[in-house]
Amino acid sequence: MAKQFLTSLDDEQLRSALTKLGEPRYRLDQILRWVYKDNVSTFAQMSDLPNELRIRLAERVSIRSIKLQSEYCSAEDSTRKLLFYTRDNHAIESVLIPRKDGYALCISSQVGCGMGCPFCATGYMGMSRNLESGEIIDQFLSVRDHTREMNQEVVSVIFMGMGEPMANFPNVRKAICRIISEDGCQFGVRRITISTIGVKGWVSRLSKSLKNVGLAVSLHAPDDELRMRLVPAVRNSPLAGLMQECKDHQYVTKRRTTYEYVMLRHVNDFESQAESLAKLLQGQLCHVNLIPFNRVTEAPFSPSDSVSTARFERILAGNGIPVTVRTPRGRDIDAACGQLAARDLT
Ligand code: SF4
Repeated sequence: MAKQFLTSLDDEQLRSALTKLGEPRYRLDQILRWVYKDNVSTFAQMSDLPNELRIRLAERVSIRSIKLQSEYCSAEDSTRKLLFYTRDNHAIESVLIPRKDGYALCISSQVGCGMGCPFCATGYMGMSRNLESGEIIDQFLSVRDHTREMNQEVVSVIFMGMGEPMANFPNVRKAICRIISEDGCQFGVRRITISTIGVKGWVSRLSKSLKNVGLAVSLHAPDDELRMRLVPAVRNSPLAGLMQECKDHQYVTKRRTTYEYVMLRHVNDFESQAESLAKLLQGQLCHVNLIPFNRVTEAPFSPSDSVSTARFERILAGNGIPVTVRTPRGRDIDAACGQLAARDLT
């Protein structure tokens, strides 16, 4: 019989498995504490469980469903990229970005991505499959292990690795619930952000189901025509509807929306486009992140020059839109925004 993976099981499934083994109810709490608080990865380490139970559990269940294959550390800025393999041999990546108070963790939600954004390496991989909730949680647990070994902490989590999290929402939601829950990892919900392209209905769904999670929207264009070229999966999701969903999200959560805008030379970096963008976002509780384009072999784009980027930033700021230009991170290890393609660089 194939082994189950513990982090993919919910409490009910775990409880029933323990009942079948004739174990009392409190065993569940003990196991949850070991896995999610103490971060152990084998049953043998669960010292307050009877030895016989540890052996029986190890025969039936594995704790982690992904394996760390390689780790790369950027010589430029200490960003770290971790390459994992799933049990069916798919490669996925998580990225650790150094902050003043610890690390921001960029997590993957799918193997590849089916959204086909033409500036993104993951988009060129195509989509293989959704990650299970356990595979998402395991990225968090493995990385938390890793950072603790470096005497550091994960201080924020953003679903901006491989994949579109809202296209795998049931599993992403299940994973987040475990990561934030009292008997899970007890990670603050407001320190988690979902980054989405915002197909019609997705932002509303997020507002209803995971109210306090932060929202980042991959916007990349101030009008529908260009946006459909750069983010083809939104062809039936006009900007007007997306803006309304984002405003509703801001109203419900009282949190600002981050709009991501990759700066592509002579594509979306003209003065007139900055003005249109400012108009589009007028009155919103938001922030614009201008992202320097990180070159991807397949992508037919060039990065905007610094003069155009500064002009774009100035126009937004001059119209009262909070804006920053993101500092590229981990470019030398293909870990920067849009560069994740799960290639082993060794
Ligand atoms: S930018 Fe995001 S949604 Fe678009 S292809 Fe890349 S991973 Fe998928």
